[in-house]
Amino acid sequence: MEDHSHLIIGAGLTGLSCAYHLGQDYLLVEREDEPGGIVRTRDRHNGFLCDGTGHWLHLRNPGIKELVNKVLPGQLVEHERKAVVHMRGAFTPYPFQANTFGLPNEIGMECLLGLLKARHPEDFGLTAPTRPPKHFRECVERLFGEGICKHFMVPYNEKLMGVKLEDISATYADRFIPRPSLEDVVKGAFGFSRESLGYNAKFVYPREGGISALPKALAKAIPTPPRYDTTVTSINLGGKTATLSTGEQLRFKKLVNTMALTTLVRLISDAPPEIRAAAAKLRAATVHYYDIGVRGAGDIASNYHWIYFPEPEFVFYRAGSYSAVHASSAPKGCRSYYVELSGGDAIELLKQPDKLKPRVIADLKRARVLSDDDEILFMELCDIPHAYVIFDEHYDPCRKQILDYLTANGAFSGGRWGGWNYGGMEDALLEGKAAADMIRNHTPESL
Ligand SMILES: Cc1cc2nc3c(=O)[nH]c(=O)nc-3n(C[C@H](O)[C@H](O)[C@H](O)COP(=O)(O)OP(=O)(O)OC[C@H]3O[C@@H](n4cnc5c(N)ncnc54)[C@H](O)[C@@H]3O)c2cc1C
Repeated sequence: MEDHSHLIIGAGLTGLSCAYHLGQDYLLVEREDEPGGIVRTRDRHNGFLCDGTGHWLHLRNPGIKELVNKVLPGQLVEHERKAVVHMRGAFTPYPFQANTFGLPNEIGMECLLGLLKARHPEDFGLTAPTRPPKHFRECVERLFGEGICKHFMVPYNEKLMGVKLEDISATYADRFIPRPSLEDVVKGAFGFSRESLGYNAKFVYPREGGISALPKALAKAIPTPPRYDTTVTSINLGGKTATLSTGEQLRFKKLVNTMALTTLVRLISDAPPEIRAAAAKLRAATVHYYDIGVRGAGDIASNYHWIYFPEPEFVFYRAGSYSAVHASSAPKGCRSYYVELSGGDAIELLKQPDKLKPRVIADLKRARVLSDDDEILFMELCDIPHAYVIFDEHYDPCRKQILDYLTANGAFSGGRWGGWNYGGMEDALLEGKAAADMIRNHTPESL
C-alpha cells in the first residue's frame, strides 16, 4: 500500500489551489482526463468554445487576484457586465429591484409602492411584522415588497431552483441577494440607475482558451501534476485509507475532499448512520442547458452578456452569450449561447426533448435573441447534476453535522460541492488555500 501525506480528491479549482498552496507531499486525484471540474471549456462544434454556462471571473481578493494574474500573465481581459431582465417584451438592466424604469408603468408603480410599503408600513396604515420571517419568500417580501417579488424575485428564483420559495430558508436572502437602498430603487424607477449595483458588475475572462485556461494554467503551476482518469472509489476514514479505480489502495495522513459532500459520505465505508442520514437530506438543483451556435446578424437582444427570464412563458430562466462577452469564443460571423433550464415548464419538457428544442428556439426568437434569419449550426443539451444548493430547513444543521464529523476525523471538505455551498471560482481558490493553510498549520479545529 502506497503512503501519501495528503490526499486531495478532485482537480477542480479548489483541489488545484490546495495543491498549489501546499506545494509538496500531496497526491491529487482526478476522475476526468483534464483539470477544472465544473470549470471546463469544450469545443462543441468547429471552434465554438463553450464553458458549460457562463463562467465569469469576479476577483475581489488581492491574494487570489495575484495568483490568477501570476498563472495567466497578461491573459485576463476586463469586461463590464451587460446583463438585463426581460419583461413584457422590454429589457431592464440587472438587478431588477433597482432598475424598474423602462418596464410598463403599472409594473414600475407596483414595484415602487410595494417597496415603500415594505420599508415604511406605518405610512400606509400597516403594521410592521414583529416575528422573524419564516422562509425565503417571506423574507424577500419584507425586503422588497409585493411588486418586486411578484414580478421578479419569486418567479425567477422558483424557475432557477425548481422549488417553492417557501421551502428555502430565510437566511438565503441575507447571504446572497443584493439589497439596494430606497434611494437606488427610486432612482432606478426613474431611469437614474446605477447599473454597477450587485456583486458582478465587472469581471475578467481569459483572452484565449476559454475559462479552462485557468485550471489548465494552475495544473501546470503545481509541482506534482494531478493523476487523471483516476476515481476514488472508497474511503476508510478511521483507517485513513482510500481505494482508487485502478485497484490501488493508499494510505493518507490528511484528506482534502472537493467532490460532492453527499458522494463523499456515500464512499466512506465507516460513515455512521446518522451522517448518512444527514447527507440524504442535502438537496441541490440540477441545471440543464443548451449550448447553441448560430450564424447570422441576430436581433436587438443578441448581444447582451446574459438575460434573466422570470416570466413563466419563457421556458428558460436565463440565456447568456459566450461570444457576446468574448467574440473569439465563436467563429467569425457566428454567435454562441447557453440557455439554462431548471424549474417551471422545463421540468415536464425535459422529458420530451423533441418538444423542448423547438420551444427553446421559439422563445429565443420571441425574446429577440435569435432572428428568423439566423442559421442554427448546433444545439447541444447538457446537464450539471449539482448546480445550485437548496438552502432548505435541513441545510445548516445537516451540513454542519457532516463537516464536524469529517473535521473530527482529520478530513477537510470544501469548494462548491465539497463544502455544499454557493460559491464562485474565487471562493473555490480561497477554500483550496484555506485547506492548505490548515494542513500546514495543524489548526486544531480542522485537522
Ligand atoms: C451553472 C454554474 C455557473 C457558474 N458560474 C460561475 C461564474 O460565472 N463565476 C464564478 O466565479 N463561478 C461560477 N460558478 C461556480 C464555479 O463553477 C465553482 O465555484 C467552482 O468551479 C467550484 O470548483 P470546485 O473545485 O470546488 O468543484 P468542482 O469543479 O466540482 O471540482 C471537483 C472535482 O472533483 C472531481 N471528482 C469528483 N468525484 C471524484 C472522485 N470520486 N475521484 C476523483 N475525482 C473526483 C471532479 O471531476 C471535479 O474535477 C458556477 C457554477 C455553476 C454550477
